[in-house]
Amino acid sequence: MSARLDLAAVVRRVPNFPKPGILFYDISTVLADPVAWRAAVDRMDRLVDHWQPDLLAGIESRGFLFAAALAYRAGRGLVMVRKVGKLPGAVVSHSYDLEYGSDTLQVSEGLVPPGSRTVLVDDLIATGGTARAAVSLLGKVGADVVGAAFFIELEGLGGVERLGVPARSLLKLEG
Ligand code: AMP
Repeated sequence: MSARLDLAAVVRRVPNFPKPGILFYDISTVLADPVAWRAAVDRMDRLVDHWQPDLLAGIESRGFLFAAALAYRAGRGLVMVRKVGKLPGAVVSHSYDLEYGSDTLQVSEGLVPPGSRTVLVDDLIATGGTARAAVSLLGKVGADVVGAAFFIELEGLGGVERLGVPARSLLKLEG
């Protein structure tokens, strides 16, 4: 039997990006490796399937990659949680505080049937600010956010604890 692929070893670490002191976990190396990418999606699918969702919600932009593959694989719908100004037509917005300033996420109106069992998907959770804002936004459009799934969780930053919904992560790495 072949050894289980160590996905954490495939993720590229880039020190001091996008600013000094940040260790950036680059999933490009996982995406570019067909065996690793398939293993990542298959293992994420097992995390997500636990909640038996109707819909997945991916956070722009690396969250889209996981959410799209997972939605297609399991036959679930997909909703895009986008940065401000990218979606056409009527949108619902949610603003949240950053260390310096604030940011806004948006979802198109009328996409989420009320009460849909929805799982939020992103590549990585650090402080949890982005994911928490996405959970609030999805709540505003009537989704029942039953969980959140991450490829990478940075430990020790309190992100998952801050979320307010159950979370599952494939890789737990140093924050
Ligand atoms: P946070 O809101 O602090 O949980 O940050 C999560 C968002 O920022 C995710 O969409 C990640 O893609 C990105 N992010 C934060 N920290 C890192 C990191 N060290 N490496 C790669 N992406 C990160």
